[in-house]
Amino acid sequence: MKTAFLTGITGQDGAYLAKFLLEKGYHVVGLVPRRSTVDRWRLEYLNIADQVEYKDGDLLDVSSLTRALKACKPAEVYHLGAQSFVGSSWEQPILTAQVTGMGVLHVLEAIRETDPAIKMYQASSSELYGLIQEPQQSEQTPFYPRSPYAVSKLFGYWMTKNYRESFQMFSTNGILFNHESPLRGLEFVTRKVTHAVARIAANKQKELRLGNIQAKRDWGFAGDFVEAMWLMLQQDKPDDYVIATGKTSTVEEMCKIAFDYVGLNYLDYVVIDPELYRPAEVDILLGNPEKAKRELDWTPRTKLEELIYMMVEADMQRVAKQ
Ligand code: NDP
Ligand code: GDP
Repeated sequence: MKTAFLTGITGQDGAYLAKFLLEKGYHVVGLVPRRSTVDRWRLEYLNIADQVEYKDGDLLDVSSLTRALKACKPAEVYHLGAQSFVGSSWEQPILTAQVTGMGVLHVLEAIRETDPAIKMYQASSSELYGLIQEPQQSEQTPFYPRSPYAVSKLFGYWMTKNYRESFQMFSTNGILFNHESPLRGLEFVTRKVTHAVARIAANKQKELRLGNIQAKRDWGFAGDFVEAMWLMLQQDKPDDYVIATGKTSTVEEMCKIAFDYVGLNYLDYVVIDPELYRPAEVDILLGNPEKAKRELDWTPRTKLEELIYMMVEADMQRVAKQ
């Protein structure tokens, strides 16, 4: 039985990937940082919380990573842990640089120290592209990060590539475009919208305050995207891959889909709040997943409408239980 070690196992992608790997027959070990209360709601939602082994550790403490890797001897490491919210990265830039940037180097060093043959997946991000210079972004598009989060991810991207070139390590970058699900954090715009729609439909909320609704994102379903992470580590050679749907929509269009689903007009509820605009915006993201299709035989299955309906449904069930 192969062992996979996941950082960020309590996050959205960690939960979906753990489920995917358990179904493939892996022994799944997850790094869990010390918190006043450890919240495993996502793993519980997917009914896998008791099928995973947990190791105490923090991305800021490389000794905890090395100890965990030496104890569980994984064949594959999926590095998903991060301060992952762009908005918070202006409020906590130093923490973001340490966790989201330096954390990658800590994982690479822990692998190098434990067994350089361990394959490693780095959760790189479409936020690297930032101030877009090409209409559709591929592995060849230059980067122009626009937030402390994106700058931190840029460091992680290059460290992953550099350890591949310097030490022949199997370290792969998945450049993933936005991916969402009913397990997405409430601070991200899709989940903020679907949660608000469920509450408004239940008469528990009157309005939805949003920032820049003209921003465009290439949104996919997290459940589809975790398969691509696994596929990357099954290749003969490490490489960099864009994972995206190849379609882009505005925040406004996504809102309309969510409100329409419950028979409401979004224009009656959405309030634009200038306070929610970001200091520097990424206006449009649109990925080109051709390489992933060609080399990994990966294609996204879930359309934006299906994704948003799935999220609104899940939020309506949660609101009904409250
Ligand atoms: P989440 O925010 O849902 O999960 C982040 C995870 O990192 C949580 O399990 C969190 O644990 C953990 N973590 C945070 N700080 C530390 C730390 N100091 N030590 C150990 N673990 C820590 O993110 P997603 O699942 O959405 O994303 C997974 C990865 O993919 C992230 O690196 C993200 O930046 C990247 N990414 C995500 C995209 C998306 O659209 N979802 C797009 C592109 C890249 P806890 O909750 O206990 O703090
Ligand atoms: P990101 O692409 O990782 O930053 O994902 P988010 O879901 O946080 O934001 C996506 C886009 O939605 C960004 O361009 C935001 O500026 C825009 N947006 C507009 N209003 C909001 C809001 O209220 N919350 C969030 N999180 N984003 C918003």
